[in-house]
Amino acid sequence: MKVGGVSVHTGTIPSKTLRETALNLSGWRERGFYGRSYRVKKEIGSHDLSMRLGKTLTHEVDVLEHQFLRNGVATMAGFARFVDPHRVMVTSPDGSEMVIEGERFLVAVGTVPFHPGNVDFSDPDILDSDEVVEIPRLPRSLTVVGAGVIGIEYATIFSALDVAVTVIEPRDSFLDFIDREIIEEFVHQLRDRGVAFRLGSPVEKVEKAGDGRVLTTLKDGRTVRTEMLLYCAGRMGATADLGLETCGLSTDARGRLAIDPETYQTEVAHIYAAGDVIGFPSLASTSMEQGRIAACHAFGLPLPPAPAFFPYGIYAVPEISTVGMSEQEVRDRKINYECGIARFRETSRGHIMGLEQGLMKMIFSNKTRRLLGVHIIGEGATELIHIGQAVLNLKGTIDYFIENTFNYPTLAEAYKIAALDAWNRMAR
Ligand SMILES: Cc1cc2nc3c(=O)[nH]c(=O)nc-3n(C[C@H](O)[C@H](O)[C@H](O)COP(=O)(O)OP(=O)(O)OC[C@H]3O[C@@H](n4cnc5c(N)ncnc54)[C@H](O)[C@@H]3O)c2cc1C
Repeated sequence: MKVGGVSVHTGTIPSKTLRETALNLSGWRERGFYGRSYRVKKEIGSHDLSMRLGKTLTHEVDVLEHQFLRNGVATMAGFARFVDPHRVMVTSPDGSEMVIEGERFLVAVGTVPFHPGNVDFSDPDILDSDEVVEIPRLPRSLTVVGAGVIGIEYATIFSALDVAVTVIEPRDSFLDFIDREIIEEFVHQLRDRGVAFRLGSPVEKVEKAGDGRVLTTLKDGRTVRTEMLLYCAGRMGATADLGLETCGLSTDARGRLAIDPETYQTEVAHIYAAGDVIGFPSLASTSMEQGRIAACHAFGLPLPPAPAFFPYGIYAVPEISTVGMSEQEVRDRKINYECGIARFRETSRGHIMGLEQGLMKMIFSNKTRRLLGVHIIGEGATELIHIGQAVLNLKGTIDYFIENTFNYPTLAEAYKIAALDAWNRMAR
């Protein structure tokens, strides 16, 4: 096994590479100008998707291996399991075993896709979120089970490739941590391009229909029939065979470890845990930071203060990014606030790029003028958000956006437009 984990091999980087390939080959970004039927490549196959992936992954692994080497970090390939609180047994791919002793340990084993008993994953037309990066062919229709971040990202990437996508989610809503106005805009755009949603009922069974397609029946009796099914409803901590019981540690039902949120120590003080194995937010960005804090604590270095807000990026098509409080949270906290909205088509850059959609919403306190949250949907959202993040964590106010000059023409100008929109409504 090569270094890099799910992030490099089956999760973050592969899904984002697939997204980039899909957007480039489909001509997605140019459709605002040339129309919905515009395509860069008429027939897109799975080989087109995998070509770019291979090159990107090789590069990522090279960079990581070089960083390990440069920083004097020894690596070995093998499966580790605790044999007692201070020793792990590592079984190498050739079957040889080696015991390693340590004063302190960091468990960062991540997760594996959750496989429920009523879905047959040996069927080549039924894939989980690790398998989809090597999708054997591009189907004409796809069911995506689970409207979490991963399910929504893949659903919209395949939809951009003209695959007819149906999303199934047991709850009546999805991505509840995102501002509702952004989700309303998102759903509107997805419905407009034909993505179907079957919300509010869990999957009862998944079987092969007589015509060879995958037939999914929901508990409330609704059915969905598509060429392929992608199951993205949850992941489990990869702790089942880790020998945690030999250290007096146990996990929750999803295989996750509990930690002290300040130091990342588990109940056994010399064993730390970070990344997806400790659960929410389960992002590569936050996992790296957790690992750094745990390492600082383990080696007695001063702990860096945790920033108040970190951004979320959802690399769907269109992408969404958010930092700080949503309008719902602000209202729940009874803060007197005002919102400002900028549509990307109001910026000159957006016009040049042919962007018909995309918006930025900013929320400010009426009392202190402080920025409380930024929510963006559309091209470049995951990059643009960092301006808002900086102002938010530095406790900046609306005046920053009103008084500063932004490069022109840029999408970042949306910050000024949204701030002015809020300023116009604020009591002065
Ligand atoms: C489809 C998808 C898309 C994603 N997109 C994003 C994104 O856009 N942005 C973002 O920030 N995050 C994203 N994530 C989340 C991100 O990939 C994870 O948060 C990140 O990989 C977690 O890192 P980790 O080190 O905790 O675990 P992992 O990356 O899962 O790494 C764990 C490693 O430990 C190894 N391992 C497991 N058990 C053992 C053992 N017993 N002995 C030895 N080794 C073991 C595994 O083989 C693996 O290599 C995505 C995830 C998925 C699945």
